[in-house]
Amino acid sequence: MSRTVVRIIGYLWAGPNTVLGIAIGLLLGGRFKCVDGVLEIHGRHVSRALARLIIPASALTMGHVVFGRDPESLAVTRLHERVHVRQYEIWGPFFLPAYLGISLWLYARRRDGYRENPFEIEAYAVEEQDGH
Ligand SMILES: [Zn+2]
Repeated sequence: MSRTVVRIIGYLWAGPNTVLGIAIGLLLGGRFKCVDGVLEIHGRHVSRALARLIIPASALTMGHVVFGRDPESLAVTRLHERVHVRQYEIWGPFFLPAYLGISLWLYARRRDGYRENPFEIEAYAVEEQDGH
């Protein structure tokens, strides 16, 4: 398969999550910007929502949508969140259930459902490779 076909399949497979992300971005009145094929969304209500998560985040990925508190947060977390975009392209609709399932499984064993989550371990490893 050509790289273009693989990319298109990735967009389609992650599509339901991307659509959900766009809908949330519109509801929160965020500002949209396309960066390297990914929609980055930030704004006052986006920032407030990220701060209110169980684990407050500076950024969060949903398919080919990345929410950030502000442009600076989006820039700082770009490398890390792009790993999650790739994970959505592989896991598609199974990404969120798999991610949350592993987190709950870890928390139930009194472990760190965030830092010990393999999806996060991969993202932090790529981030560190780049020297951040
Ligand atoms: Zn992450």
